[in-house]
Amino acid sequence: MNRDPGCIFCRIVAGEIPSRKAYEDDELFAFHDIAPWAPVHVLVIPKEHVASFYDVTDAHTAMLGRIMALAPRLMREHGVTGGFRTLVNTGADGRQEVPHLHVHVMGGPRPWAKG
Ligand code: 5GP
Ligand code: ZN
Repeated sequence: MNRDPGCIFCRIVAGEIPSRKAYEDDELFAFHDIAPWAPVHVLVIPKEHVASFYDVTDAHTAMLGRIMALAPRLMREHGVTGGFRTLVNTGADGRQEVPHLHVHVMGGPRPWAKG
């Protein structure tokens, strides 16, 4: 599997940086954001290093579909009933800070810290 040893999300997948895991399978990993905007704020990522949404190709469509199907499941599992936001920041102008594709999934009662 393609991995970037300098990437912090690749290191989280490898267990080299601790995280609060929400889900894991062969292809996907989900963990709680260290600086949550909302009562529940999970990041869902492919285990493979894909730098951003901009780098996605047809080879990634199944993986992306699985991320989208996982998002509501994770919200249900965390007791989110009032709706949630799903966000993908891409590149510098998209304010992406960590260059490993990730989908933010945020829910829980308002007020939120951000968003
Ligand atoms: P971006 O701005 O790239 O879309 O979002 C990156 C997210 O990753 C931010 O919400 C930030 O709080 C989160 N984050 C950055 N470093 C870490 C980390 O080491 N652990 C966890 N759990 N989240 C992180
Ligand atoms: Zn990575």
